[in-house]
Amino acid sequence: EYLAHYDPLTKLPNRLLFHDQLQQTIDYARRDNKQFALLFLDLDRFKAINDTHGHNIGDALLCEVAKRLSRCVRVEDALARLSGDEFTAILTDIYDAPGANIVAQKIINEIGKPFEINGHELFVGTSIGISVFPKDGEDPQALSKHADIAMYRAKEMGRNLWVQYEESMGQTVSDMYNLENDLRHAVERAELSVHYQPQIDLNSGNIVGMEILARWPHPVRGMVPPDEFIPVAESTGLIAPIGEWVLQQACSQNVSWQKAGFSPFRVAVNVSGRQLAKPDFHKMVERVLEKTGMKPKWLELEITESILMDYQAEALPILNKLNAMGIRLVVDDFGTGYSSLGHVKNLPIQVLKIDRSFVRDLPDDNDDVEIVRAIMALAHNLRLKVVAEGIENQIQLEFLKEQGCDLAQGYHISRPLPSDAITEYLKKKLKNTLEINT
Ligand code: C2E
Ligand code: MG
Ligand code: MG
Repeated sequence: EYLAHYDPLTKLPNRLLFHDQLQQTIDYARRDNKQFALLFLDLDRFKAINDTHGHNIGDALLCEVAKRLSRCVRVEDALARLSGDEFTAILTDIYDAPGANIVAQKIINEIGKPFEINGHELFVGTSIGISVFPKDGEDPQALSKHADIAMYRAKEMGRNLWVQYEESMGQTVSDMYNLENDLRHAVERAELSVHYQPQIDLNSGNIVGMEILARWPHPVRGMVPPDEFIPVAESTGLIAPIGEWVLQQACSQNVSWQKAGFSPFRVAVNVSGRQLAKPDFHKMVERVLEKTGMKPKWLELEITESILMDYQAEALPILNKLNAMGIRLVVDDFGTGYSSLGHVKNLPIQVLKIDRSFVRDLPDDNDDVEIVRAIMALAHNLRLKVVAEGIENQIQLEFLKEQGCDLAQGYHISRPLPSDAITEYLKKKLKNTLEINT
């Protein structure tokens, strides 16, 4: 009886008992004319911890999470573990929907505090979706589905967030499943493509780099932006074949450009957290470099600041190995990940890429001006190069140049384009320089 209804690890009710409890809560609430809230919780970063620290640590962490959850709710409220890192809470007797938000926030705060497990200090977050009886559903299926949809929305919006279900959210979850299947097929049928966006040196005006951006032309949805499909690729493991393929495209295209006689420049490839968490990531990179014949000094890997924060322990040895191979490492979207300055100092990186949100309102927004100045001073003191991305006009370009920014990228220089269009762009640039010099 116990095993059938309780999760042996956390001692919380399992999915089966949860469904009974939910049905019972609905019956009582209907009889007494009351509202209650259903919370769906999913841990952020749990997979990464499980992958890198092993299942024993992962299990111990889940038990600690269950304990903290019990401290956040009242004894009448029912907690359950649905599967893996998914939990639920039924908050009975809330007077209004905002009452549920307060509990959700309390949970987020509690789970956000560091966990001390077997000498490791671990950080997880949680995303929470909330549905309220009876406004969001009157049976267990509808309430669960809507809490789940709200939870996906919370994940999409970032992490450590709660989101209340709203009707306008519609079918997010089933959309997500379709996207997953479609992406798998697209990878199998080699339907992904890449675009290239040039980076110029602000002093010489020369092209010194080219960022590679993945594209997915979907037969029905049109061009799916990478911000949408990369997270799906990450959660399904498809990021491994996609990431390797993008890297291969970047290297072989760059070798072709070099063979065609363009003065050599670097290609910059984005790396996701899941890729970096693999202990043999650098070996894959080495293999691709060998196969395509590109020298490592022409490769740059972009890693977002928040990924560096999340995966710092496991990534450091890999970053060091990549560095030792002669590959340049860039912190992408710098300024959005809340890393401490001391932390940046300890990483084997060569370039900071200022996030485009700080560039957008330059030079009118005083806060952004100060942030950009501070980043520039920090970077140059640490002997790092600075790239600004998202430059859309001449004024931003001039301002950044004045501030001592080294490299620039953005629509003002060129939009990301497919390889043949970029090759044309390179030819035109070359012709211009020849004309100026003669
Ligand atoms: P990111 O690495 O920060 O890439 C820069 C994004 O800014 C690109 O969006 C680019 O098209 C856009 N952008 C460039 N110039 C401008 C500008 O002047 N104004 C504005 N508003 N936007 C500009 P995109 O291509 O949609 O890529 C979004 C993100 O998706 C990338 O951000 C990167 O984090 C991720 N991504 C793209 N390709 C890959 C990939 O192959 N692997 C991985 N792991 N992530 C990728
Ligand atoms: Mg990038
Ligand atoms: Mg960026």
